[in-house]
Amino acid sequence: MSSETNLMYVDGHWVEADSGKHFEVKNPANGEVVGTAPSGGWAEARRAVVAAARAFPAWAALPAKERCNLLLHVGYEMQARKEQLARLVTLEEGKPLAEAEAEVLYAAEFLTWSAEEAKRVPGEMIPASVANKRILVLRQPIGVVAAITPWNFPFAMITRKIGPALAAGCTVVVKPAEQTPLSAMALFRLFEEAGFPAGAVNLVTGDPAEIGKEFLSNPQVRKLSFTGSTEVGKLLMRGAAEQVKRLSLELGGHAPFIVFEDADLDRAVDGLVACKFRNAGQTCICANRVFVQEPVFNAFSAKLADKVRLLKVGNGLEPGVQLGPLIDEPALAKVRAHVDDAVRKGAKALCGGRPRLDGDFGKGHFFEPTVLTNVNTEMKIAVEETFGPVAPLIPFRSEEEVLAKANNTPYGLAAYFYTRDASRLFRVMEKLEYGIVGANDPAPAVPQAPFGGYKESGLGREGGRYALEEYVEIKNVSIAI
Ligand code: NAP
Repeated sequence: MSSETNLMYVDGHWVEADSGKHFEVKNPANGEVVGTAPSGGWAEARRAVVAAARAFPAWAALPAKERCNLLLHVGYEMQARKEQLARLVTLEEGKPLAEAEAEVLYAAEFLTWSAEEAKRVPGEMIPASVANKRILVLRQPIGVVAAITPWNFPFAMITRKIGPALAAGCTVVVKPAEQTPLSAMALFRLFEEAGFPAGAVNLVTGDPAEIGKEFLSNPQVRKLSFTGSTEVGKLLMRGAAEQVKRLSLELGGHAPFIVFEDADLDRAVDGLVACKFRNAGQTCICANRVFVQEPVFNAFSAKLADKVRLLKVGNGLEPGVQLGPLIDEPALAKVRAHVDDAVRKGAKALCGGRPRLDGDFGKGHFFEPTVLTNVNTEMKIAVEETFGPVAPLIPFRSEEEVLAKANNTPYGLAAYFYTRDASRLFRVMEKLEYGIVGANDPAPAVPQAPFGGYKESGLGREGGRYALEEYVEIKNVSIAI
């Protein structure tokens, strides 16, 4: 694959950074350079914000149906070009092609779903307490939205933010992760082709701290929507206080996955494999702590290890590969450190447990799909997000005990449980302190449903009609007649 130079998209033009410098984008499967992106900073971000602010009044005033049609166009083009776009995701992010294609379709649906929803941002009239007054409530687009996104879903994390923002009538400036700017650029080419007005959608790449600081300090940015680590989310939240800037935060998770003794074990094993090993365990909602009730612990562990051993690891472009590389060297080092720490403290690897360094694997950042038993809460893996293909199994006795353990974390993004008892299903679903709960379902994140976390996992919701609410201001107009 030859490397290609790509550009930022500001005010309807493809532009270089002022410095003329670029950074390299590498394939995590083999370290090859697959492209470059401009090393922008605060000045480029400021120009993008100015362009978005200039474009805002006309974009907000467009009839919702016209905004809808433009968004639909991009969504349909993504669907039509799914193979080409998926290849880009695999090249820069590493996930297997089939998963990348599923991501492209999932990402497209955030545009098509939001597009339809653009038509449903109604106001209301509230009965007044006196005869000569009328109270109107307007929902108006908030203004310029800045979005900062992570690398693990290079298309979906962008469309999940800007689909509803654009639908609501906001204009946007996006800063994608440094590992995956090429997918973002491909997406913005589709916005350009669709005929979005200059300045409505802008893309800047480069220095995250400088660009983030510009977003926070520029009063023309009315809202910042961030997906990424809790650490950076907290930093941005502190910075947003200065201008009381509107914030949406989608941060880290530490999802419990609970298997009760009455569960359909085969279904639970398949669910865990799907939930835990998708994207090599690099999703914010993937299972991090697997609690299995004692009577079925051994049977479940054995069935799980049998399935996990069969997962095919490799370059995501190769046919049949189910598990790609981790995104970079620090990610691989973190997974290794978590597994080594657990093993040192008494955990046992039923399968996997080491990086893959043999042959061509050594050029990338591969870790063997791993199942650990004898895990306890003294181990890092039981308290910190691992972001890798490791399933740590922890036995439990009672429902009460497991709920206390599952909720004993500052995170509250996603939780899963398997049971065939209908009463338990309701009890457990209600008591889990998580924004997303999969009950016998490993895949609860869909475009029409709310997505977001309790506690330190974030603020606000993306997905469905809840997402548009995050991009409007509510105005009370009291009219005396
Ligand atoms: P990260 O380091 O926080 O990076 C996310 C984004 O923030 C990137 O675009 C990054 O830019 C940027 N960034 C870094 N430092 C910044 C700063 N000082 N100011 C402004 N922006 C800054 O997170 P990550 O490691 O890439 O992503 C993994 C994390 O995201 C995990 O914790 C995962 O759980 C979370 N996540 C959450 C969700 C959710 O919906 N809740 C979804 C996906 C991922 P550079 O790339 O240029 O450094």
